[in-house]
Amino acid sequence: MSQALVVLSGGQDSTTCLYWALRQFGNGQVEAVTFDYGQRHRLELDCAARVAAQAGVPQTVLPINTLAALGGNALTETGIPVQDGVDVQTGLPNTFVPGRNLIFLTFAAALAYPRGIHHLVTGVAQTDYSGYPDCRQATIQALEQAIQLGMAYDLTIHAPLMFKSKADTVRMADELGALPALADTHTCYNGVRPPCGECPACRLRARGFAEAGIADPLLAVP
Ligand code: ZN
Repeated sequence: MSQALVVLSGGQDSTTCLYWALRQFGNGQVEAVTFDYGQRHRLELDCAARVAAQAGVPQTVLPINTLAALGGNALTETGIPVQDGVDVQTGLPNTFVPGRNLIFLTFAAALAYPRGIHHLVTGVAQTDYSGYPDCRQATIQALEQAIQLGMAYDLTIHAPLMFKSKADTVRMADELGALPALADTHTCYNGVRPPCGECPACRLRARGFAEAGIADPLLAVP
């Protein structure tokens, strides 16, 4: 029986968290869950599968098509281009998918429960990011408590990147031996591979690697 379940999106952060969990809980003790939420960039799902396979971690893919049905954001709706900056009304980028992390972690907990897994791992962070309110420490703590109460189950949510800058996360990936796996990750909001290098997600990723003084293995992929 596994000890930890990692929410694996196929991105840089959740991949780093997968390797953190393997270090923390040991080989054979970690599983991954990936959500197919109707993301425009199906490439993410391929990346998640490759990362899990490379790490030797069993992966469950759960469909949640409700988020795409809700619409209104640039990650699930093709008619909405990713914009720089924030929406004047919400103060958030239009890549914010309302409720996404709350739903992911709740479903992850629902998957952990019957498997007797007591640790969830998520790559959310409140530093250096887009200000998504569901990535904050206070949100994660409150959700952990809600899940413990609502499922009457002892469950801890780990967010090892919570207070790390992007550069710190890159250094951590290096230290954990996760850099080769980062070649298989997907970050670009425009959903292209090799990445566009222009969108907010590409620029944030590039800045993190530059500040850490480490070459991004994704850019070395032919
Ligand atoms: Zn991009």
